[in-house]
Amino acid sequence: MFEPLERTHQRIREAAVACGRDPKTVRLVAVSKTVPAEHIRPAIEGGVEILGENYIQEAGDKIEQLTDADVSWHFIGHLQSNKAKFAVRWFDMIHTVDSVKLAREINKQAAKHDKVQNILIQVNIGMEDAKSGASEADTISLIREISPFENISVKGLMTIPPFFDAPEKVRPYFKALVALRDKIAAENIPNISMEELSMGMSGDFETAICEGATLVRIGTAIFGERQ
Ligand SMILES: *Cc1c(COP(=O)(O)O)cnc(C)c1O
Repeated sequence: MFEPLERTHQRIREAAVACGRDPKTVRLVAVSKTVPAEHIRPAIEGGVEILGENYIQEAGDKIEQLTDADVSWHFIGHLQSNKAKFAVRWFDMIHTVDSVKLAREINKQAAKHDKVQNILIQVNIGMEDAKSGASEADTISLIREISPFENISVKGLMTIPPFFDAPEKVRPYFKALVALRDKIAAENIPNISMEELSMGMSGDFETAICEGATLVRIGTAIFGERQ
């Protein structure tokens, strides 16, 4: 048993139930950036099914050390086009696609592997200068451009809202992502599903779940503070 993981799963279940959601509709992405493979293993043994990584090089090393483990890897960091080939090789889901250029490269690499790469569109919902992500206004046109790519399957949206120390302050940003998701879903664009909403981290995942998150990305609450 891995205590912080048990506690996190419990909090996820309680947050879902408190907001009238089926806990099975919320999946945990355990964020293992900076955590060495030998410390990830207990989490996998404790039942983690999805691991999230931010840096390609670091992820590749760990994925190789953990090839025997039955887990799915999600890429949640900023992805440069020239690293797309590695992301396609190693990750079941890429959460951070925010440009046609990157999508085109992912599509090309996925075709080489005979793979249909699952992706999420990262939205800069707080319109912060320093953050990656498509602007809310550009997201639909970006999705329309990606729609014909045969080796990409868009599964939904992801966001990293502005940082606040109080989760209540983040709620409007989660609501804005949900509203955008609903707007895109209503357009019925071919090859575009809006089933996933990746939002919520250690400090605010309960709020995100209440607003409709299907993937919560949690690092610190499971693995402790990063150096
Ligand atoms: C590091 C990271 C997380 C996890 O953050 P915690 O606060 O440690 O839970 C989630 N999402 C992204 C994109 C991250 O980079």
